[in-house]
Amino acid sequence: YHTLRVILGDQLNAAHSWFRETDDGVLYLIAELHPEATYVKHHVQKLCAFFLAMERFAEALQKAGHAVCYLTLDKTNRETTPQTHEQVILSIAAQHQITRIELQRPDEYRVLQNYQSLIDRHGSEGENTLSMNMVDSEHFLLPFDEIPRYFKPNATVRMESFYRKMRQRFNILMADEKQPEGGQWNYDSANRNKLKAQDLAAIPEPLCFQHDVTSILARLERHQIASIGKADTALLWPVTSQDALLLLDYFCEHLLPNFGRFQDAMTSKTPHSWSLYHSRLSFAINCKLISPKLVIKAAVSAYRENDEIDIAQIEGFVRQILGWREYVRGMYWVNMPDYQEQNALNAERDLPSYFWTGDTKMHCLASAIGQSLDYAYAHHIQRLMVTGNFCMLTEIQPEQVDEWYLGIYVDALEWVELPNTRGMSQFADGGWIASKPYAASGSYIQKMSDYCGSCHYKVKEKTGEQACPLNSLYWHFMVKHRERLSKNPRIGMIYGNWDKQNDAQKHAVLDRAAWCLTHLDEL
Ligand code: FAD
Repeated sequence: YHTLRVILGDQLNAAHSWFRETDDGVLYLIAELHPEATYVKHHVQKLCAFFLAMERFAEALQKAGHAVCYLTLDKTNRETTPQTHEQVILSIAAQHQITRIELQRPDEYRVLQNYQSLIDRHGSEGENTLSMNMVDSEHFLLPFDEIPRYFKPNATVRMESFYRKMRQRFNILMADEKQPEGGQWNYDSANRNKLKAQDLAAIPEPLCFQHDVTSILARLERHQIASIGKADTALLWPVTSQDALLLLDYFCEHLLPNFGRFQDAMTSKTPHSWSLYHSRLSFAINCKLISPKLVIKAAVSAYRENDEIDIAQIEGFVRQILGWREYVRGMYWVNMPDYQEQNALNAERDLPSYFWTGDTKMHCLASAIGQSLDYAYAHHIQRLMVTGNFCMLTEIQPEQVDEWYLGIYVDALEWVELPNTRGMSQFADGGWIASKPYAASGSYIQKMSDYCGSCHYKVKEKTGEQACPLNSLYWHFMVKHRERLSKNPRIGMIYGNWDKQNDAQKHAVLDRAAWCLTHLDEL
């Protein structure tokens, strides 16, 4: 071989131009790595999904006539001495006397740093032994080099204005060059329906795969990879591009007609409460089994062909992928490494232990955490308004919040997790992403879910032992950050409600919040 091409676990893009032709001189390297499996404690289903998707990708490449070196942990973690990616790459290159190494640009800053140091030390600028080249991963709609045209470091950039530019640029759901189809850019206000009792029976069963991961589980155990969450020998997540296409078809046919309508809704009253009308495509998209462009194209075609899908449903879906997904990637790259240091609200508490067990009396939290442990999945509003809101109101240290989100979700990769968690959900960037903190009391949870009806706490009460902790914690948060938030036109008027209370009422609420904060582990 003359060239070694390295493929990461989240670079399983069969449509990449690398694979257009076969070349006997090119060896592809895919490796399971101990450092990647342990840099945070991952959900066991996430580890299984990545390793199986990598294995299947290697098999498919081989079948297509490419030469592939697939290394399991048994090879890269020999005698339990973990090898770094750099060591693995250099040793395979040496073994085959390869002098040229080609990489795809990683999505994560941490991995780019590793690649950069490999290039600096061993590329032509360093010891001059290897020629190295990094190419694009050919995945996102917005070319990497154009990120600085839309995003500025340490500054507010609103998703909505970026999204409109992307709609125009890629001509998606447009009436003409300038105007959106349907006359409105955003149907967010039509995306806030609660699931009523009569809606529950109609929720479709989720399409789940049944991939046997027995040997991967054994490998994780053999190499003492600590993990969280419920292990299952039958993995339900998609691991090939064929799986991803099936999931996409299923979504377009059964879920898209109600996607926008119930996008923010939460329930614990059906066996499909964990999946609802969500696509669950994030893992497949993030490891590039399927391209965001193709997902958008298929959904828009379904909308054109199916009268049951109205504009509010398709726009809501397109906004998530063309808008939010591309936007958080831009915000990540333009602000790294500073982003990972942000703690604008000086939050310093420890994450309570029930984040690892779901064992709390707060039903909303127990449901969101419980399903995250069971499935390595929760939908956006559970992540933002249940666990995220709770962590922000209780002032949990952003590092710990990030670590939890990065570990527990099957789709969690730092480029998408960090801006969503630290920025959108914790307001730790002081507002680069969110125009106001996503802070909510129990009444929001009650409005969007049926959680409160079967909760130990009373959602209507602000004080006393039975009061929903979110109610007093919300006011504690708002009062504490009054100086920063009262000037915010989207939130400032809230203080009128607080000022109307008499001193005794205010004290009682703040006392209850103080008790909750000192007894966080008991809630
Ligand atoms: P659907 O509801 O079906 O949405 C369709 C697609 O839109 C998703 O697959 C995803 O690709 C994209 N999308 C939707 N919202 C966002 C968003 N805010 N940012 C980026 N893409 C979005 N998403 C991740 O992929 N990885 C993460 O690690 C991650 N961490 C998050 C942490 C927090 C605190 C919050 C609030 C959100 C996070 N998200 C993350 C975004 C979002 O919650 C998930 O993308 C979504 O829940 C995945 O489920 P789905 O595929 O069923 O999405």
